[in-house]
Amino acid sequence: MNAKTKLLIIVALMLLALMTATIINVALNFRSYSLKGAIEKSNLTANIVRDGLTAHMVNGIMPQRQYFLDQISNNDKIKSLWLFRSENVKKQYGEGFVNETIRDDIDKEVLATGKMVRKIIEHADEIILRVTIPYNANSTGVQDNCLNCHDVKYGDTLGAISMEFDVSDLRTSGLLTMLKIFAINLIFLIIALYLIRHYVTPYTRLFTNLQAGIKKAYSGDFTHNFSTTIGGDAKNIVDRMNSLFSKMQETFGNIKYNLATFIPQGSVSSGSISSGDPLHEAKTIINELSDIYKFKKTIELDASKEAVYTRLVDIIKLKYHVGHFAFFEINSITSERYLFFTTEGDNSICFNRDNNDSSVCRAFRTNSVTISTEFPNLCQACVNSNVNYVCIPFTINQDISLVVSMTSDNIDEVEKMKTHVSSIKHYLEAAKPVIESQILMEKLRDSSLRDGMTGLYNRRFLEEFIDKLMSQAERNQHTYSVMMIDIDFFKMVNDEYGHDIGDMVIVALSKVLKENIREADLAIRYGGEEFVVMLQNSTLEGTMAVAKKIHSAFSSLSFDVNNEKLKKTISIGIAKLPTDGDTIWKCIKFADIALYKAKNTGRNKIVEYKDEMNEMNENDEKFY
Ligand code: GH3
Ligand code: MG
Ligand code: MG
Repeated sequence: MNAKTKLLIIVALMLLALMTATIINVALNFRSYSLKGAIEKSNLTANIVRDGLTAHMVNGIMPQRQYFLDQISNNDKIKSLWLFRSENVKKQYGEGFVNETIRDDIDKEVLATGKMVRKIIEHADEIILRVTIPYNANSTGVQDNCLNCHDVKYGDTLGAISMEFDVSDLRTSGLLTMLKIFAINLIFLIIALYLIRHYVTPYTRLFTNLQAGIKKAYSGDFTHNFSTTIGGDAKNIVDRMNSLFSKMQETFGNIKYNLATFIPQGSVSSGSISSGDPLHEAKTIINELSDIYKFKKTIELDASKEAVYTRLVDIIKLKYHVGHFAFFEINSITSERYLFFTTEGDNSICFNRDNNDSSVCRAFRTNSVTISTEFPNLCQACVNSNVNYVCIPFTINQDISLVVSMTSDNIDEVEKMKTHVSSIKHYLEAAKPVIESQILMEKLRDSSLRDGMTGLYNRRFLEEFIDKLMSQAERNQHTYSVMMIDIDFFKMVNDEYGHDIGDMVIVALSKVLKENIREADLAIRYGGEEFVVMLQNSTLEGTMAVAKKIHSAFSSLSFDVNNEKLKKTISIGIAKLPTDGDTIWKCIKFADIALYKAKNTGRNKIVEYKDEMNEMNENDEKFY
């Protein structure tokens, strides 16, 4: 219902209420006025009759009274009129005329009490006002002193007059009056409604117009054109609204356009961000942008790729309140999936340590968000059919991709997760360049710490990281066996066969080293053809066994050079941390001393460090 209809209904109801109140009021007053008139007439008639009869009596013409009474009652309002006498008067003057008798109980009552009785008798076709007024003897004045002629006491009732007035017009004229009032009011109501309609319509039209414009504005559409036929203030408001809206349209368009450049349109209109109200949407986007900006600023200072991953995990956990999820890193080159984080202990719904093949992951393979509710058994890697999942793949670069796999057995939660997809992607997007540069840094660092020819760590690595590694080892109570390895008479290879062949021999030795140590062990190209091997938690026997294996593996190699078979040997010096030296640098030095001993005592051998080696010569400078 529009405002105009409402207003018209309210005014019409008010006028109708007013009309009803007037009619009721008039009806009530009309009745009492009409009755009052009839009552006064009855009193007047009673007095005239009394005075007339007294005059007849005084003049001695009482027997002619009927003519007088007929004249009185010859009135269209007086339906009937009769007199009757009391017993005292009857005794003194006789019964009177035949029509002067008591006719009903009212007559009797008035004679008995000496008090007037007035009564309205309603019939279907007429209304009668019945009045019976007693004539009581009084002694005031001389002329009309009743006691002069009547043989009664003062106050005795001499008789009474009964009259019946036709007051039926009470009903008809009342009805007529009410009809007239009703008609007048109705005309007034019609005129009032017409005037209201005529003068209020432009305002209600403006109001409806304003309402429509504001409604459109609420949903972000500021194109509405306000108009009115009214001048003055209304026109002013319309003009101001139009200029405000055109400003809003322009500004808001700019904001929307600019925001769209930060966050892609598609993602803005999906999920929790979308509310149908662009202002609210803009606010949400700005908040989101601000959060992402802070996130980006924070991760830029993080030290490693893993630290950034941890932040992403925290965002998913703390900002989106995802209770169950796993965070994977996928190496596209090796097709290996690495479970970086999971809320589910060690495994996830689609991962176990024995199978880290990335091709099983549908989200990664198809590079599209995979939602279990879209198709039964969508990702065949998922081993738990009771759990639903929303998996978001994200490519960092051609080597590395990420997959966030959110899971829940509650369908409402899955719906909520779906709304988080675009926001989580924004965070991944923000993290992408940082992760990329971390990967690059890692590569760079790795290349500067590795020897290009052999792929082994270089001396710089030893210098930069060995202290850190050793303090970790100390915390974990790891022991190390250090081997210093040097090729015997290597110079000769270079001299006789050239540098390339020398290089080939060095690479061959590095291969032998790699093949004979475990993952926790380290092999380092220490110098030209000198290598340091560090075995973690290895007993003396174990160390000796590895040294022998390396020694014999290398010795058994033969290099084809100029149709000749070139064979080389190595010397190995061994020292142990912490039994020989309490720091790694001391142990390296002691291993070198042992190697020196090997070289000096014939080469092609393995020598364990002994304390006395460090005191071989009184004149020699101690090595540490
Ligand atoms: P020793 O048994 O005492 O160790 O005798 P050696 O001839 O091996 O003597 P030394 O260890 O001093 O010789 C090292 C030589 O290795 C000197 C250098 O020319 C050579 N060399 C160092 N780096 C490289 C390299 O990268 N490639 C090649 N081909 N030769 C290298
Ligand atoms: Mg050598
Ligand atoms: Mg050497």
